[in-house]
Amino acid sequence: MTTHAPHATHTVTLPGSLDEAVAALAAMPAAVPVAGGTDLMAAVNSGLLRPAALVGLGRISEIRGWQYQDGHALLGAGLTHARMGRPDFAALIPALAAAARAAGPPQIRNAGTLGGNIASAAPTGDALPVLAALEASLVIAGPAGHREIPVGRLLAGIELLHPGELIGYVRVPLLHAPQTFLKATGRTGPGRATASVAVVLDPARRMVRCAVGAVAPMPLRPYDAEHWVASLIDWDGERTLAPEALTAFGDYVAAACIPDPVPTPEGGEPGTLPPAVLHLRRTVATLARRALGRALA
Ligand SMILES: Cc1cc2nc3c(=O)[nH]c(=O)nc-3n(C[C@H](O)[C@H](O)[C@H](O)COP(=O)(O)OP(=O)(O)OC[C@H]3O[C@@H](n4cnc5c(N)ncnc54)[C@H](O)[C@@H]3O)c2cc1C
Repeated sequence: MTTHAPHATHTVTLPGSLDEAVAALAAMPAAVPVAGGTDLMAAVNSGLLRPAALVGLGRISEIRGWQYQDGHALLGAGLTHARMGRPDFAALIPALAAAARAAGPPQIRNAGTLGGNIASAAPTGDALPVLAALEASLVIAGPAGHREIPVGRLLAGIELLHPGELIGYVRVPLLHAPQTFLKATGRTGPGRATASVAVVLDPARRMVRCAVGAVAPMPLRPYDAEHWVASLIDWDGERTLAPEALTAFGDYVAAACIPDPVPTPEGGEPGTLPPAVLHLRRTVATLARRALGRALA
């Protein structure tokens, strides 16, 4: 369906399937996809973006739910935060549900989608550290068919969405083990993250996976801290850690993501971190300690 608003050059196309959406983008290379519009329309309203045409993804029912596939959940990119926050989804992927429940006020959660959160790739995107910790991958639909890329490669800018491509699905391993997401904001009530931490236990591979959001342009994975703490856990036993170990894990994660300043090239003393950065580091340490503690509780 195509509508032409009077007195406007904009064309809005509302395809009913992913293939139709890809075809619409191929037919109108200047068109921009829009899902919930919570990021895109804010940019349009503030004059930052003037798309010549829009391809709305809201009527594509195939990407608004999820299905099971080979031990994975194949999540439609059109899943809203509100839908992911519901109990049936939380039973499946608890950390992603927790992130969805923390993403903005209800109006935003009702409209904003998983695919839009990933494509916007804002440092404060709440789904992003969770997807990084889960080592999720993206099924991309485009004129040349489908391809799959790890989410971390897109967020790091190693892989890009080519013109005319859409995020169709997000493939997430179902780990059947505790996972947590915690977020700090600069205000009470809904707000963007100043720091966030996702922790995922993977008992089958005896791994702890952790990702820190909002402190860098992309989620950061403190691999050494993950390996160290996984080696302390009795995976066949009670899977508990002493409080000192949890604290050390938090400090390890925080120092890895917000390192000390390096010495100057002239061999001078390294400077100290500014107070605001030290505060952020302490916040990350606290979030990581609590997130792992809750996952192991
Ligand atoms: C007041 C406010 C508060 C917010 N608070 C939070 C918060 O706390 N946490 C948080 O994470 N986010 C927050 N957001 C950001 C926003 O709501 C999310 O990023 C949301 O998930 C974006 O999804 P959308 O469907 O609205 O994307 P849209 O605005 O429709 O699109 C965003 C971008 O993604 C592209 N896009 C959309 N879908 C696809 C797709 N399937 N394939 C390829 N490209 C696509 C669009 O072309 C556009 O460039 C907030 C936004 C507002 C306005």
